[in-house]
Amino acid sequence: MRLSRYFLPVLKENPADAQIVSHRLMLRAGMIKQQAAGIYSWLPLGYKVLRNIERIVHEEQIRAGHIPMLMPTLQSADLWRESGRYDAYGPEMLRIRDRHERDLLYGPTNEEMITDIFRSHVGSYKELPLTLYHIQWKFRDEVRPRFGVMRGREFLMKDGYNFDVDKESAIHAYNRHMVSYLRTYERMGLQAIPMRADSGPIGGDDTHEFLVLASTGESEVFYDSAITDLKFGERAVNFDDRAECEAIVKEWTAPYARTDETHDEALFNAIPEERRKTSRGIEVGQIFYFGTKYSEPMGAVVVNDQGERVPVHMGSHGIGVSRLAGALIEANHDDNGIIWPEGVTPFHCGIVNLRQGDGAADAACEGLYKALAEKGLEPLYDDREERAGAKFATMDLIGLPWRITVGPRGLKNGVVELTSRRTGESEEMSPEAAVARVAEIYAGV
Ligand code: ATP
Ligand code: MG
Repeated sequence: MRLSRYFLPVLKENPADAQIVSHRLMLRAGMIKQQAAGIYSWLPLGYKVLRNIERIVHEEQIRAGHIPMLMPTLQSADLWRESGRYDAYGPEMLRIRDRHERDLLYGPTNEEMITDIFRSHVGSYKELPLTLYHIQWKFRDEVRPRFGVMRGREFLMKDGYNFDVDKESAIHAYNRHMVSYLRTYERMGLQAIPMRADSGPIGGDDTHEFLVLASTGESEVFYDSAITDLKFGERAVNFDDRAECEAIVKEWTAPYARTDETHDEALFNAIPEERRKTSRGIEVGQIFYFGTKYSEPMGAVVVNDQGERVPVHMGSHGIGVSRLAGALIEANHDDNGIIWPEGVTPFHCGIVNLRQGDGAADAACEGLYKALAEKGLEPLYDDREERAGAKFATMDLIGLPWRITVGPRGLKNGVVELTSRRTGESEEMSPEAAVARVAEIYAGV
């Protein structure tokens, strides 16, 4: 993409109403625009990041054997009356009446709808296990929408639902989700720690939240620092292997890590003092096992291998896709702007032409642009007639992890400069070497 033809409405001033850094930077970098309280448009740069987050979530869900689909945003109130949640949910639910006086709602989550789909089509244990998921907009009429996309009213969520014949296999589905989530967040360049949580209005016995440590997080968290040393890495996991998934879950749940809702002072104090940490955290996902809470009232039953009709065991598993855009920035920024991890960056590499209109500089930039594209990479070429300082400031603000700087002086010696946004370190090399280096970096992402 050439910046002269792109739509990147960056702001020079700090927006007054944004209280936390990610909100400020998303507005300044032209990623989002607020349309109403807690409701945002995703401008081109923000939309690219959102799509990248979504792509990683899809890839990891599919890797774990979960099946993508799409349910509507609007739901019939009658379904929610069956589970008893139409009345229980309260003012967070946006209720709508259509022209025929039928009650609808903008879905805050989809347990009822997925249970309805299941009971319409599945009747035997032979069709299980089954995990269906979608990535769809949700609406929760939050009392205090704030912090930009971190606590919106309309927000994008991945929500997945497992259906299993008994508790044991449903617990395997729970473990499988935990493992796939560990990998998902790590691929985005985030450390999200699974913490024992409280089940809240969705209900259930087993639940973990995934928290990103950040001073602006809304949850208070307590953990053993040993957990922050764990790395998922490039493990090849067989997601059908119960013992293997369980062992990974054990590894990540052995060190103490809890939110204030489930915090246990005595257990915490048993950790060696130097490893005892308290912090704030941003919830970027949650997994639940809730048994037959929905299948029983809604009649989602299967015939088991004994010929008995039993309510199916379920769980639901969410990832805050749009919140992650904010959480990623909370965890990756400096005074000059965003620092995208390679896994989610909106463009792989920036190209800054220090002297637009100089024949050699223009030709070198065009060459780099083409060569990067040929490697399957998407560069953002700042081809505007702007001062170098302004171009650097824009690149730093929008946070592309790599920048190639091209100027007539370097070109006389046959070199351009490759700069890491994260470390600020620059290295001179030939344009060909710069392309090869950037391609090599992304080959491992
Ligand atoms: P919170 O405690 O932050 O209100 P929740 O526990 O009610 O969230 P879940 O039902 O667990 O939310 O939803 C799954 C994920 O969706 C959460 O882990 C979070 O990342 C995201 N999410 C929930 N509410 C919002 C919101 N208002 N804006 C953006 N993302 C949200
Ligand atoms: Mg939650």
